[in-house]
Amino acid sequence: MIKICTVLGARPQFIKAAAISKLIQNQYKSQIEEVMIHTGQHFDFNMSDIFFQELQIPHPKYHLDVHGGSHAQMTSRMMMKLEEVFSNESPNAVLVYGDTNSTLAGALVASQMNIPLIHIEAGLRSQNWKMPEERNRVLTDHMSDLLFCPTQKAVDHLKNEGISQGVFFSGDVMLDMAKQVEIKTENILKITNGEPYVFMTIHRAENCANSKVFHEMIDWIKEVAQNRLIIWPIHPRSKQAITQYQTDMTGIKLIEPLGYFDMISFLYEADLVCTDSGGVQKEAFFVNTPCITMRSETEWEETLVGGMNRLWQSNLPLLNVQSTSHPFGNGEASHEIIKEILRYFV
Ligand code: UDP
Repeated sequence: MIKICTVLGARPQFIKAAAISKLIQNQYKSQIEEVMIHTGQHFDFNMSDIFFQELQIPHPKYHLDVHGGSHAQMTSRMMMKLEEVFSNESPNAVLVYGDTNSTLAGALVASQMNIPLIHIEAGLRSQNWKMPEERNRVLTDHMSDLLFCPTQKAVDHLKNEGISQGVFFSGDVMLDMAKQVEIKTENILKITNGEPYVFMTIHRAENCANSKVFHEMIDWIKEVAQNRLIIWPIHPRSKQAITQYQTDMTGIKLIEPLGYFDMISFLYEADLVCTDSGGVQKEAFFVNTPCITMRSETEWEETLVGGMNRLWQSNLPLLNVQSTSHPFGNGEASHEIIKEILRYFV
């Protein structure tokens, strides 16, 4: 039996973990014991609990209740608590997802305690070192023993940095998840009354940190929407920015953060998606909805090919073409990952 401590804390990690955890529960319970550790980075009901409920993720055995403060404060508090948990549990491996402070904290502690580290969604690069996410992912990759890459490009990034041992192209667990969603329009109709709409999300720290950038983006989206209804499920950080900057929200319908199934349905039914989210631009690609990414670079460059996604400040046309090839694997990434984990440890 392999014991794996999984460290999670932020919304996109709950969704990625759902793919793997469900598979362990359903098929590998006799070979893998997974201990869930929630750092507390996201803690509101609709940023956290809702995903555990609707995606049937096992209830965390540990809740570290760490949130807020600077990056250093948050990461160091998580590290101290994780060290205690890993000492109690003595796992065979620690599993982390993506690029948040919870990812880095888990990776650092596992590495310092000589516990093998598994990183799912390894090898992504925006080449923008100013992004906390970029620093978290580069550092985590360099500490990992098993690295599961969602795309071939991610494998190449690791190779360029001298990492090739323990690297696997698994495909993207988020595609596994998106493929399981049955599109439902009931909740969409309640909000849109059947009107066509543009769907937006903005929450990255660099886009919310000053009112000039924040308002420039919102004004730009209003112009692109051409009087269509704009729907924005609001992230706590953006909510705070709107209040602080007294942003004019005319033309934009703010809604509470959505559950995952509603979210994919909203993306599917939208005319256009405008987002600075890593996950959302990719999900728009999965459901063939054109997307404008509100950043000056993306770590998901594959979505730019063919024009399904474009960066907001580029002049490239947005083409509403169906994506024909799938650089993100075949929707079976979680199976590949578990198979490799078992091969490594058994
Ligand atoms: N998401 C969601 N409800 C929302 C907004 C996002 O379920 O109201 C999901 C989205 O479908 C994606 C993930 O959360 O799977 C992305 O999270 P987020 O944008 O917070 O983080 P990022 O991908 O930028 O790291």
